[in-house]
Amino acid sequence: MSAPMNAPARRATLPVRIRNVTVGGGHPVVVQSMTNTDTADAESTARQVAELFRAGSEVVRITVNTKEAAAQVAEIRRRLDGEGLDVPLVGDFHYNGHVLLREYPDCATALDKYRINPGNVGKGANHDRNFATMIEVAKDHDKPVRIGVNAGSLDQEILAAMMDANARAGAPKDAQTILLEAMVESAVQSAAAAVELGLPEDHILISCKISRVQELVRVYRMLAERTHHALHLGLTEAGMGMKGIVASSAALALLLQDGIGDTIRVSLTPRPGEPRTEEVRVAQQILQSLDIRPFLPQVTACPGCGRTTSTFFQVLAQEIEGFLAERMPHWRAEKPQAAELQVAVMGCVVNGPGESRAAHIGISLPGTGEAPRSPVYIDGEHATTLEGPTLVQDFKGLVEDYVRRM
Ligand code: SF4
Repeated sequence: MSAPMNAPARRATLPVRIRNVTVGGGHPVVVQSMTNTDTADAESTARQVAELFRAGSEVVRITVNTKEAAAQVAEIRRRLDGEGLDVPLVGDFHYNGHVLLREYPDCATALDKYRINPGNVGKGANHDRNFATMIEVAKDHDKPVRIGVNAGSLDQEILAAMMDANARAGAPKDAQTILLEAMVESAVQSAAAAVELGLPEDHILISCKISRVQELVRVYRMLAERTHHALHLGLTEAGMGMKGIVASSAALALLLQDGIGDTIRVSLTPRPGEPRTEEVRVAQQILQSLDIRPFLPQVTACPGCGRTTSTFFQVLAQEIEGFLAERMPHWRAEKPQAAELQVAVMGCVVNGPGESRAAHIGISLPGTGEAPRSPVYIDGEHATTLEGPTLVQDFKGLVEDYVRRM
């Protein structure tokens, strides 16, 4: 489906194929997520990968941190294949990736991409040797890699060298600027080293994650100036609940609006009992709110005010939102355009008819003191007026009819 007219223009990057998904090169921005299960527990990990995939995560990353974890990766792939889930699996490696990828060839084969953190592959000569080993495995198995720099595990040798050079400069920059520049330098140098080792350029993605919004924006703007590799975006350690959602949305929106970002992840810390899939919905909603990609029909609802003394319109808005989310998987095969549907549920006639006209289909409920009648607008025209106890059902029926005609 083509992007809506007001989607921001995308920066040109090299396309990277990850199993059945292409990232960058003008392809739609891809939503990713990561499991929090012990990868050595193949059953739990495969189950969570499946949940994330079914929730809309188009690429799922798993930690591969021990021999026990590496030994189970092929089994996780088998379980997913057994369920017919063609989800690309990415292995997240730190410290021992060079060992695990060499000692567990089934793991190297089963994964669709390797994430390499250049700050965590060893020091000095070991760094270069271990990094080269991982790139050799990627070449042998024709797999792409993500050079994933993180502020918390930045290559200290690059940082120290850049800090020293800065101290000797006539007009030194502040230390935080040097840290951000060192992150970009580490990523760009590592990508160049991978190409030098023979990995094709279109097998490389880059990320440079940090946990503060303004710093993430600065680092990615620098990165976008320096590389044409596809970029994976994410505010690392975004946090819990509203704080994590708002901070991630702010950071990703600023960058996506600049055309930066080919794949995104929202790194939420789930509250106890909260589903891991929340981060997938948030990532989708960020892309949809920016008109970059449609995923679910959207409900425009007014916030309510003193003109609505009942909560009926809030209940209706929530019910319609639930109805649309439930119906979308059924519509997806034959009516994928339903994801672009705009539905308005408004609390009174002040803004109700106006917003209803701007939506594909909208209802304006009666405010306090207004006649108990609810005009419905379809494609900008007054189509009918609903009232009585079947109003909710009747409105859902009109939405269903609308989708059928789309
Ligand atoms: S549409 Fe009506 S009820 Fe909703 S916020 Fe505006 S004035 Fe209040």
